[in-house]
Amino acid sequence: MPAVDAVIVGAGPNGLAAAVTLARAGLTVQVYERAATIGGGARSGEATLPGFLHDGCSAVHPMAFASPFFTRFALRDRVGFVTPDISFAHPLDGGRAGIAYRDLDRTAEGLGADGAAWKQLLAPLVRRARAVAEFTGDTLVRIPRHPVTMARFGLRTFEQGLPTWNARWREDLAPALLTGVMAHGVQPLPSLGAAAAGLALAVQGHAQGWPIPLGGSQRIVDALAADLLAHGGRIETGVAIGSIDELPQARAVLFDTSARALARIAASRLPEDYRRKLNRLRYGNAVAKADFALSGPVPWANPEVARAGTVHLGGSREEVAYAEREVAAGRHAARPYVLVSQPSEFDATRAPEGQGALWAYTHVPRRSTSDQTETIIRQIERFAPGFRDVILASSHRTAVQVEAYDPNYVGGDIASGSGHFSQLVARPTLSPTPWRTAGKGIYLCSASAAPGPGVHGMAGWHAALTALSTEFGIKESPALAPERN
Ligand SMILES: Cc1cc2nc3c(=O)[nH]c(=O)nc-3n(C[C@H](O)[C@H](O)[C@H](O)COP(=O)(O)OP(=O)(O)OC[C@H]3O[C@@H](n4cnc5c(N)ncnc54)[C@H](O)[C@@H]3O)c2cc1C
Repeated sequence: MPAVDAVIVGAGPNGLAAAVTLARAGLTVQVYERAATIGGGARSGEATLPGFLHDGCSAVHPMAFASPFFTRFALRDRVGFVTPDISFAHPLDGGRAGIAYRDLDRTAEGLGADGAAWKQLLAPLVRRARAVAEFTGDTLVRIPRHPVTMARFGLRTFEQGLPTWNARWREDLAPALLTGVMAHGVQPLPSLGAAAAGLALAVQGHAQGWPIPLGGSQRIVDALAADLLAHGGRIETGVAIGSIDELPQARAVLFDTSARALARIAASRLPEDYRRKLNRLRYGNAVAKADFALSGPVPWANPEVARAGTVHLGGSREEVAYAEREVAAGRHAARPYVLVSQPSEFDATRAPEGQGALWAYTHVPRRSTSDQTETIIRQIERFAPGFRDVILASSHRTAVQVEAYDPNYVGGDIASGSGHFSQLVARPTLSPTPWRTAGKGIYLCSASAAPGPGVHGMAGWHAALTALSTEFGIKESPALAPERN
């Protein structure tokens, strides 16, 4: 194979973000991807019936406008997005629902006696949403650039991450609404990791909203790939790298793989104690997914829920916390937390006219082989009686099949490493540059590295900047925005 400046193993959003950054700096870049198509956790395609477009993994993109990398890349100028007025909703039994509008005041108005407490919790962070995106999109092992906002964020993380988490609330709607977004962290509740994830996402929900890409998540990675190719980069799909020794000579090799896969693939060039550290990264609980083709809208008991991009199901704060504890204990919860995205409510490309494409997943123990379609249907039915009658077809992936779809999701852990607070700090190791490994010219650029999961490109961008500085003496980030002719 011919020599290049940099090789990237894996064409997920982080691998492509790294590749674009390196190519924009004038380097020759070669990407290898094991799957037949690029995109990793941001692929879209048919899964149920012809004419219905489904996102294979990520569906909702809270960081699409907020990520410092995507802002520089001007993602919103390259991909069409729709941003629902309601970022997320959380129905309770009896037709009530907590509704997180982008508008913080309007949200507070709907939360009764807890409206003021919701606003007090989030308003100071929403006003500094850009700073929040910066430090949550970086390693925490750095001198903070926004110490006051970070301190406010930290205090609130402790408040909602400890067993005293109910002290602020007087009713049930607001804590349920917050718990639904905290549960994205796939952590026991309450916990610091879940609180940090939930607050970071809720802040963006009230700042920029939670955008949905028109045409599916695939459009995001396609935009990255187009920019890479336009700047001389090359992508080869269908090439699974088993050993670093298979790669062409390169000054930098960046791995968009799990930390565990990096330890295996680069074993010949990484010191044993460093490999041991990589293998010590713990993987968290998993998800099982279901996609539905629908003959019409979901009959939500609360019609406002139909206007939300994302819906969190599971009932009260206590019920969701109980379900998450069950999963953490290795059991399938009878009434689990279910995350629903309804993109076809906002994007006509997802389903034939008048019909719908619904995306859902639930939390399950790692390596579960259980098909959770029926459990997911039951939880949706609970808040949308008659849902079953609008299902035309469904497809599912167990936790084990999630890993087969993309090996970065070890055991079905979609975060490529648990979001336990300690692993938000040391990811994969405790270092101000955790993307640089102990091997010469070898970098980890995936969600197994800081800042962790999500389609934001930040791990890729940081890894590429570290490689540019260390291996090539280039200290500034190259321009990433589209060139104007
Ligand atoms: C079911 C599910 C739902 C999700 N929902 C959301 C959501 O709504 N919003 C959100 O922001 N995030 C979501 N995520 C998380 C998000 O998809 C990931 O955090 C993100 O894709 C991580 O990007 P990455 O580039 O680090 O890794 P990945 O996207 O996993 O990409 C890694 C790539 O590397 C390739 N690869 C791995 N090993 C090799 C090898 N040895 N040789 C060659 N290629 C290799 C893989 O095939 C893959 O293409 C979800 C994930 C899942 C699974």
